Amino acid sequence: MGSRWRIGRGNSVHVYSDRWIPRPTTFKVISPMKLNERVTVDSLKLASGHWNVDLLKENFLPDDVDMILSLPPVAPSVDDALLWHFESDGNYSVRSGYRVGCVMSAPPGSSSLDESTSWWKALWRFRIPPKIKIFLWRACHHWLPTMLFLAKRGVPSDGLCPRCHKRLESIIHAIWGCRDLGSVRRNCVFLHGLVITDDMHFHDLMLLILNSIKISEVELLCVIFWRVWFYRNQLIHKLDGQDLGEVVNWASNFLEEWQSYQMVTPSTKVNVVEQIPKWQPPLAGYWKINTDAASCYRNRIIGLGIVVRDVFGTVKLACARKLEAMFSPLVAEALAVLDGIHLAVDAGLVPFQIDTDSLIVVNLVNKGDSSSADVGHIIADIVRFLRSLESCSIAFTPRKRNAVAHSLARTALSIASDRCWVDSCPPCVERLVLLDSSV
Ligand SMILES: [Zn+2]
Repeated sequence: MGSRWRIGRGNSVHVYSDRWIPRPTTFKVISPMKLNERVTVDSLKLASGHWNVDLLKENFLPDDVDMILSLPPVAPSVDDALLWHFESDGNYSVRSGYRVGCVMSAPPGSSSLDESTSWWKALWRFRIPPKIKIFLWRACHHWLPTMLFLAKRGVPSDGLCPRCHKRLESIIHAIWGCRDLGSVRRNCVFLHGLVITDDMHFHDLMLLILNSIKISEVELLCVIFWRVWFYRNQLIHKLDGQDLGEVVNWASNFLEEWQSYQMVTPSTKVNVVEQIPKWQPPLAGYWKINTDAASCYRNRIIGLGIVVRDVFGTVKLACARKLEAMFSPLVAEALAVLDGIHLAVDAGLVPFQIDTDSLIVVNLVNKGDSSSADVGHIIADIVRFLRSLESCSIAFTPRKRNAVAHSLARTALSIASDRCWVDSCPPCVERLVLLDSSV
């Protein structure tokens, strides 16, 4: 149910009949068949191993093209492999298997609140702020004051949506289905292909997505719903400042920020006012590489930020790179680490210690074998480098201690072409570098 092909060479996977698109639950292309029925995925690639974007756009629907371009880049020598879609390391786990099994085995329409304790348990374990959990809980109980809700309770209202004034404002319409929310839906690439209708109960929608996308994507979607509802309330109160095209970016940054704060140890949290968590200098004789990635969903761009410093915090090398792609945050973070290693090795800056704020990347690298993960080949490259370079290592660092790399990654989203600085500090992060290196 949750397995699909991870594309390497692509020669053993059929375009139309095999499961390889990261779109549950079918994992298949939805475009009408224009190419030969037996064609394999390698024929959609150029000799360089990159996707033939023109060919894709000619033969596939935009939803399929977005999905294919979101697949992580891979060296042409890597074999295709089966992976388990619902876990970051690609291996089937009882936890996610149980989750999918529970939802799939429930007969349609049987998802009454009593029967779905598994969903409630999942909700309370989500890594999202409590106020958003309460918002979801209210939505599941139909306790959001939509126009339809008010009309049904005798409040004078025509029940129509305050955005489009055309359709009844159900909960799903208000936070997802309204025609004016097109930019939000378009930017949620991970939901393309799922059929969501205005008359669905919010609770059934949550069951559907819980069964269809990764937990990290469900968490992001919860923040998106909450943000759209906030904008909707602003509209009711005639407050301006809506930028629906930025909702997905905003939610992604907000969630990343909140989750990285949760990673800071409780003892650090107590002193957080007096003691801002500081950048960790390397051990004497080592270089410190900090890496980070940022995404712009609206423009389908990934930004990578890399900075190499000495034990005093002096910048030796910094880089802001822009990739026109829509990789998942995990793939982007792994690419930033790999890029940082390449840059340091090319510049002779060894040995080094790498810090990233992606705990999943660190865990996958330290585990050593992630061959079945979506990012498996990138992780394998990182592992190979670290093993061949004596005493180089990777560690997790909270976002607040990774501010320079983070800022470079954000900068990369708005530059025309890649920027590199050697033996000088990028002006855009001068203040942050100073803060990091001050005792
Ligand atoms: Zn509407």
